[in-house]
Amino acid sequence: MEKLNVLVTGGTRGIGAGIVRALAGAGHNVAFCGRGETEKFSNLATTLENEFKIKAAYYQCDVSNQDDHAKLLDSFLADFGSLDALVNNAGVAPEVRADLLEMTPESFDRVMNINLKGPFFLTQLAAKKIKDNPNDKFHCIVNIGSVSAEYASVNRGEYCISKAAVSMATKLWAVRLAEEGIAVYELRPGVIRSDMTGPVAEKYDKMIAGGLTLQKRWGLPEDIGKAVKMLLDGSLAYSTGQVIQIDGGLTVERL
Ligand code: NDP
Repeated sequence: MEKLNVLVTGGTRGIGAGIVRALAGAGHNVAFCGRGETEKFSNLATTLENEFKIKAAYYQCDVSNQDDHAKLLDSFLADFGSLDALVNNAGVAPEVRADLLEMTPESFDRVMNINLKGPFFLTQLAAKKIKDNPNDKFHCIVNIGSVSAEYASVNRGEYCISKAAVSMATKLWAVRLAEEGIAVYELRPGVIRSDMTGPVAEKYDKMIAGGLTLQKRWGLPEDIGKAVKMLLDGSLAYSTGQVIQIDGGLTVERL
C-alpha cells in the first residue's frame, strides 16, 4: 500500500487518537494536533514511531485560530516534505447543553468556529499546499461529521448546525477539488465512546440497550480509524463527495 503523509486534527484522544493509530498501523506517516503542550504529545508521537516504524509528529494548534493554520502546515511540510491527506477530526460539543431557548451567541460562535470555520479554512490552505506540490499519490480530505447533521437535538443545537454545515462544506470542497485530483469525504459517526460522550454515557447505555442502534454496542474510536484507513487506501476513490455512515445502524429508518 502507498505510504502517505497525513495530518489529523485533534488526534490527542478519542476518535482522533483512534484514527492516528489506525493510520500509523497501516504504515502511513502521521502528524496530529491539539491545543495541549507539545512535550506530552511529542512523546506519544515518538512511541508511535517506535511501534510502527513510521514518522510521527505532534503540533500545538487551535483549529479555531486561523493564525495557527499556516504555522501548522509550515511545520508539517518542513518535517514531512509533502502533504497527501488531511483528516478534519477536531471538534467540540457545547460546554453547556442548553435548550434552544437558552443557547447563547457565545456558545454558538465557539462551536461554529471550532467545528466549521476552522476546518473549512484549514482545508482551503491544505488544498493549496497539495495543489502546489503535485505527485502521483492518492490525495483526499476527510471531514468527521456526525449523525447530528440530520438528527435534531434541541439541547445542543449549535453542534447540530455545525455538523450540517460541515456536510455542505464537504460537498463544496468535493466539487471544487475534483479537478485538483483531491477526493473529499464526510465520515459520519453515530454514538462513539470518548470524552465527548462521557458526560452522557449513562443515557446512551440505556438507549443502546433499548435499540437505538441495530448493533447493540457503543461505537469505538477504532471503528472510525478503520474507516479512515480504508478511505486513504483508495478503496472508495471513485466516491468523492459522499457521506459514509459509521453508526451501528442508528440511522436505518425503521417502522
Ligand atoms: P473528544 O472530546 O474525545 O476529542 C476531541 C479532540 O479534538 C481532542 O483531541 C481535542 O484535543 C481536539 N480539539 C478540540 N478542540 C480543538 C481545537 N480548538 N483545536 C484543536 N484541537 C481541538 O471528542 P471525540 O473524539 O468524540 O470527537 C472527535 C470528532 O468526532 C469531533 O469532530 C466530533 O464532533 C465527532 N463526533 C463524535 C461523536 C461521538 O459520539 N463521540 C459522534 C459523531 C461525531 P485537545 O483537547 O488536546 O486540544
